[in-house]
Amino acid sequence: MQSTVTPTHCPYCALQCGMNLTPAPGGTVRVSERADFPVNRGALCGKGRTAPAVLDPGVRLTSPLVRSPETGALVPAGWDEALDRIAEGLGRTRTGYGAGAVGVFGGGGLTNEKAYALGKFARVVLGTSQIDYNGRFCMSSAAAAGIRAFGLDRGLPFPLEDIPRTGCVILVGSNPAETMPPALRYFAELRENGGTLIVVDPRRTKTAEQADLHLAPRPGADLALALGLLHLVVAEGRTDEAYIRDRTAGWEETRAAAMAHWPEYVERLTGVPVPLLRETVRLFCEPEAAMVLTARGPEQQAKGTDTVSAWINLCLATGRAGRPLSGYGCLTGQGNGQGGREHGQKADQLPGYRKLTDPAARRHVAGVWGVDPDSLPGPGRSAYELLDALGTDIRSLLLMGSNPVVSAPRAAHVEERIRSLDFLAVCDVVLSETAALADVVLPVTQWAEETGTTTSLEGRVLLRRRALPAPDGVRSDLEVLHGLAARLGGGPSPEKRFPTDPEEVFEELRRASAGGPADYSGISYRRLTEENGVFWPCPAPEHGPEPTPVAAAPAAPAPAPAPAPAVVVTAAAAASAVHPGTPRLFLDRFATEDGRARFVPVAHRANAEEPDDEYPVLLTTGRVVAQYQSGAQTRRVDELNAAAPGPFVELHPRLAERLGAAEGDPLAVVSRRGRAVAPARITTAIRPDTVFMPFHWAGEGRANTLTHPALDPTSRMPEFKVCAVRVETVRS
Ligand code: SF4
Repeated sequence: MQSTVTPTHCPYCALQCGMNLTPAPGGTVRVSERADFPVNRGALCGKGRTAPAVLDPGVRLTSPLVRSPETGALVPAGWDEALDRIAEGLGRTRTGYGAGAVGVFGGGGLTNEKAYALGKFARVVLGTSQIDYNGRFCMSSAAAAGIRAFGLDRGLPFPLEDIPRTGCVILVGSNPAETMPPALRYFAELRENGGTLIVVDPRRTKTAEQADLHLAPRPGADLALALGLLHLVVAEGRTDEAYIRDRTAGWEETRAAAMAHWPEYVERLTGVPVPLLRETVRLFCEPEAAMVLTARGPEQQAKGTDTVSAWINLCLATGRAGRPLSGYGCLTGQGNGQGGREHGQKADQLPGYRKLTDPAARRHVAGVWGVDPDSLPGPGRSAYELLDALGTDIRSLLLMGSNPVVSAPRAAHVEERIRSLDFLAVCDVVLSETAALADVVLPVTQWAEETGTTTSLEGRVLLRRRALPAPDGVRSDLEVLHGLAARLGGGPSPEKRFPTDPEEVFEELRRASAGGPADYSGISYRRLTEENGVFWPCPAPEHGPEPTPVAAAPAAPAPAPAPAPAVVVTAAAAASAVHPGTPRLFLDRFATEDGRARFVPVAHRANAEEPDDEYPVLLTTGRVVAQYQSGAQTRRVDELNAAAPGPFVELHPRLAERLGAAEGDPLAVVSRRGRAVAPARITTAIRPDTVFMPFHWAGEGRANTLTHPALDPTSRMPEFKVCAVRVETVRS
């Protein structure tokens, strides 16, 4: 047996922990500590440790499946037959209804190479504008707010290693103790260094338990909370006037909007007492450096973009953005949520994070693709709008790496839309709830069986490496697109236009991204191997300005002692014309035309659905540590299932008493969109006006049956995080 150790990265979340893989009996791999990757320094959560379990042919797909016309069941088929059926299904729609009736839905877990190839395939081969991906449900509000304030969206504009050396972090709607446990050490070190951690969450989560201060606002009131804090910053004379004058624009309007949100009014809106608001402002403003980090809590709302803007405004008013050890950042969720939004599978974007509506961007990318820029379709529908149009305007769908039957809002409706399609093809590693509805299912390779790049929540481009061969009968998504391009036409030589070698695809992606906001042109597989990842933007010498030496981490304000920086720039890179990558953004200027950050005036507004007599309680949803997203992979791992076997309804003892419910009793949670049933978990860690459900499961405990599809007007993010429900005991 080969004993080679393959250094690579976890297949799950955006932390992209480093891990070593060694071949193990039974054709699988063993995970071990990889201490050379600085982000997790060898630490892994249970999901990462058990990831090889999904490589087991017993739980995964190893043969294409096609729906039998005789029985209606999915039955094994050969690859040629399956690809022929997909080409025929998509082609029939295109001929009968036009290219825009063919939809493509991608995923934030796809590698950069796959995301890039999928976007190109949709626009060049299918000729459709109707492509989006499940990352729209993840960080799109933070991305939209970042672009309008800073001119650029990169989840974290600084590396995680800066967190322990700042003075205060406000963590808004983020629970890394459950979502990415190895990241907790950064916050623990912050506190060990004398810094302060403030957690904003309607629940006293495991992360909130470790905070110096926990604010528990009513779900959906994060925007009002940020406005109240900004009001106090102004009222207490804590603004940084020189910074506002020199580095920002639009302050006066934003200031006026904040002054309309009196602390007592904000207390009424949020439930957070005024003294806690004042203490938060003191802790945030007194240190020389401070950060605000958001995650899905404030972002997955129909006012998510404005909510993030409100927190960015707080950073700008206090001079916290674009300065050493300070700033605003978003903790992206999915493994390649960052890279997935940069390379063309988003409805309105082209590779390099270029705008699809920008004529120069269209010319550049069309040149790389060898097509006429005018032949590229314009922007399509956002993820929920695309799913909502299935069976009507969109008749056929190609879906890769996503499970919307579980993960989309108003999931019963989305499931019904999917069932109404003329044709559905799904590429996945397991027979997910969505794949089970398909006409054709293609079994594809997984992280340990393929090479490819991802971009972590830090904007660090990483190389995942192949550690073992895929089982017979399984092919990569790149081979799928190659095979479909050969069948669907759209020009000669699919072997050249849709190569199956990931490095070849990456070389093309480099050219396509050159000169764009997310410029990867100076990054290569060789550099990723030698440097353990490279932060974008990283232009090749012919595409970018002269490289400026990247520093070591900036000096920390006293008294925090600085550990050795984990962002390494090799001497060879620093001494050569090679751009070293950009761990820290905006230190000199923001990415706007005039280099100034933009304040965006925002005001409090109600949730899309507020409680009333019929639906008197608020529902919020989230994750548990042992499951990942729709659970398609992790629900197939025994150890994880034992730790988190099913959904539950978390509720306060006062609400439980009113209902007459005891721990473990089945509860029905009912919204205007449907009903979900799960056992009660009674705890004082949640507000009495709110219940919580994790969203990883299908069936009667599917939390997304209940969630609201109201969309943010800018990001098109659905209102996952808050809706009105009633809770009932279920009599047997
Ligand atoms: Fe994998 Fe995320 Fe867990 Fe790290 S924290 S092991 S990347 S799931």
